Amino acid sequence: MKVIYPGSFDPLTYGHIDIIKRLNDMFDEVVVAILKNEEKKSLFTLEEREEMIREVIKENDLDHVKIKSFDGLLVNFAKEENSKIIARGLRLVADYEYEKNIARINASLYDGLETIFLLANSNYSFISSSGVKEVASFKGDISPFVSKNVELKLKEKYKY
Ligand code: ADP
Repeated sequence: MKVIYPGSFDPLTYGHIDIIKRLNDMFDEVVVAILKNEEKKSLFTLEEREEMIREVIKENDLDHVKIKSFDGLLVNFAKEENSKIIARGLRLVADYEYEKNIARINASLYDGLETIFLLANSNYSFISSSGVKEVASFKGDISPFVSKNVELKLKEKYKY
């Protein structure tokens, strides 16, 4: 079975890494799908975000994981990939409220599509890419939230 794990990954955090590892253990094939939507202005380029994920795959020997990118509707990407399973992480009740609507819309656009939710690891459930960027913008310590290579890339962007 093949699962798609879509997101912005701008940047990749320990929360994302935890989900990717768990999916690697559960599925034959995991497609980490990076959203390249131009309107949602990202700090890191698509190539930079890809590189962050590639390093995690290599370091952890995640041999079921592939990286792809998409824009437009996620359901169209899922159709192209021939997969009817989307995975999302759940941190807060707020995530659930938002995600359940998207999941229903997606299911109505693609018959049989299932969205599965993985509960965030309690150690990482407070971590978000936007929170990490905010701390980094004030030159704070981001080492508890992201891997060393991502930390270095953030420090480069924010010049500290
Ligand atoms: P998006 O813009 O699609 O929400 P993100 O990169 O912020 O992209 O998140 C991608 C997925 O990873 C989402 O399902 C999100 O809930 C999940 N996620 C983000 N941070 C964490 C975390 N700390 N723990 C578990 N899941 C997370």
